[in-house]
Amino acid sequence: MTNPVVKCSVDTCVHWLPDDACGAANIDVLDSQSKSAEETKCKTFELRSSAANMVGAMDNANWGGMVREPFREGRQITPSVTCTVKDCAYWAAGDRCEADTVDITGSSAHTCEDTDCSTFESGGHGGRS
Ligand code: SF4
Ligand code: SF4
Repeated sequence: MTNPVVKCSVDTCVHWLPDDACGAANIDVLDSQSKSAEETKCKTFELRSSAANMVGAMDNANWGGMVREPFREGRQITPSVTCTVKDCAYWAAGDRCEADTVDITGSSAHTCEDTDCSTFESGGHGGRS
């Protein structure tokens, strides 16, 4: 089973790491009846605002990836992706994403509503398996 490489520019998120990486173990991408990238969001976003939520974020941290992945050639830290955006052309059964890379964006985001999956492409029918 493949998993996309997640690139994220949302540097206000507690999971964000330099070089546009995401340190979460898993991200949930959701929509609200979406027909466009703007309607999608990274539900795992958490505002980097306090020591308390920095500690909370450790529950969903990619500790194994942080230790091992930087030392493997051609590999990088990336979370698994769970996505419910069935309108997207990359969506596949089992709430999987079949894109090679996923770009999460949302400059100065304060809530998950401010984030988008910019890789979204309309045309999905929820029928890929
Ligand atoms: S917004 Fe989502 S993809 Fe970006 S760092 Fe936060 S949890 Fe990871
Ligand atoms: S590219 Fe499509 S299927 Fe993949 S995470 Fe983004 S919205 Fe979901």
